[in-house]
Amino acid sequence: MPIGDINAYENAMRQFDQAAEILGLTDDQITMVKEPRKITEVILPVRMDDGSVRPFTAYRVIHSRMRGPGKGGVRFHQDVNLDEVKALAFWMTIKSAVVNIPMGGAKGGVIVDPRELSDRELENLSRRYMAEFMDDMGPESDVPAPDVGTNPQVMAWFFDTYAMHKRVWSPAVVTGKPVELGGSLGRPAATALGVLYTVREAMRVQNIDRAGATVAIQGFGNVGSHSARLMHEDGMKIVAIGDASGTYVNPDGIDVPAALNYAEHNRSSLFGFEGIVKVERIERAEDILEMDVDVLVPAALENQITSQNADKVRAKIIAEAANGPTTPNADEFLAANGTFVVPDILCNAGGVTVSYLEWVQNRMGYYWEEERILSELENIMVKAFQEVNDTAQEYDTSMRTAAFLVGISRVNRVATHRGLYA
Ligand code: NAD
Repeated sequence: MPIGDINAYENAMRQFDQAAEILGLTDDQITMVKEPRKITEVILPVRMDDGSVRPFTAYRVIHSRMRGPGKGGVRFHQDVNLDEVKALAFWMTIKSAVVNIPMGGAKGGVIVDPRELSDRELENLSRRYMAEFMDDMGPESDVPAPDVGTNPQVMAWFFDTYAMHKRVWSPAVVTGKPVELGGSLGRPAATALGVLYTVREAMRVQNIDRAGATVAIQGFGNVGSHSARLMHEDGMKIVAIGDASGTYVNPDGIDVPAALNYAEHNRSSLFGFEGIVKVERIERAEDILEMDVDVLVPAALENQITSQNADKVRAKIIAEAANGPTTPNADEFLAANGTFVVPDILCNAGGVTVSYLEWVQNRMGYYWEEERILSELENIMVKAFQEVNDTAQEYDTSMRTAAFLVGISRVNRVATHRGLYA
């Protein structure tokens, strides 16, 4: 971690403190809202293909059920650690409140590189995860979803494991499922759609013309690849895309459909893409963050824009599709520099919003057409952007602080109504 920057949880708590001070929350109010309510760490013993049993460290953190059941993805990644999961759980609470859906916040993770597992091993790990955490899971208690390294198939295994143990048909226990299992239409692209809607709003308030606006996107997984497609279809020019394999640049605009097609047939990786269409692969992958573009979309992991590179960021708008891509020191620098940052807890809330719509449909047992889902999503995202933007004007703060003000005050109001069960 670069000097002067802090870990994700310290970052999250600092963001909370700053907003709590502006809101004038009392110590008791802070106690009710700030810290996670339940932290569980387990070792998952998993049968491997060679017959051995391998231990995996796994977490589930329920940050808040103040406004609704715990809600948040499960991450399978080799760098997962408890502070990261706690930070992500906290951000889920605030995110749900920013878009005003009746959900709390939670997050899970397993320390594993899923690319090293066979399909059978991945299934064993996923089932064991749900079996271990099941007592806290349920449509009205805690509802997991996909995150980095997990996907609809993993959600299907979560669903099935829960159904087998509990002897219930309960699709609302998990979101981001395959459509045939009660997943919502529109869910795969939902986070990216939210990114698109908030970028459009940011361009509107910043007076940037959408047609031909230049975009660089770091990360080409679920969120990054759908963002590239949607922004390309919306008339923007994607000049750089990058993933763990490298960064690929074409100032005249990347052939996005070709990139999508390439990644689809290359285990979701852009590795080797420069040999296929006209792009240049640049040596330093981080250079994507420093490109002279209208919009930079970090859509990979946290702590990408730090005190080490913030002064080199040239984008006019940063749309934080990833969670926590900007450290606090970098954030201060960007704010002072006039960069318009659409903060993660607003920018990437499209995923949890459609997860909520999926949960609603599961509980009704009645399914909407995609058109209805997309229109609900757009209304929710645009309204949330406007509320945050209005709050930023009212308090003369950054969009990030404003989003925390909106989210934290909503959680605090519910905490006040509920009082303390003693
Ligand atoms: P994913 O696993 O599908 O994709 C991650 C991408 O990041 C991959 O292309 C990977 O190659 C790339 N990457 C990893 N390390 C990199 C590096 N050092 N440099 C450049 N690229 C790198 O994950 P995802 O679901 O797209 O999530 C991406 C981010 O968006 C995460 O921060 C996640 O928490 C956040 N997010 C996801 C959702 C969702 O619905 N999937 C919702 C909200 C927020």
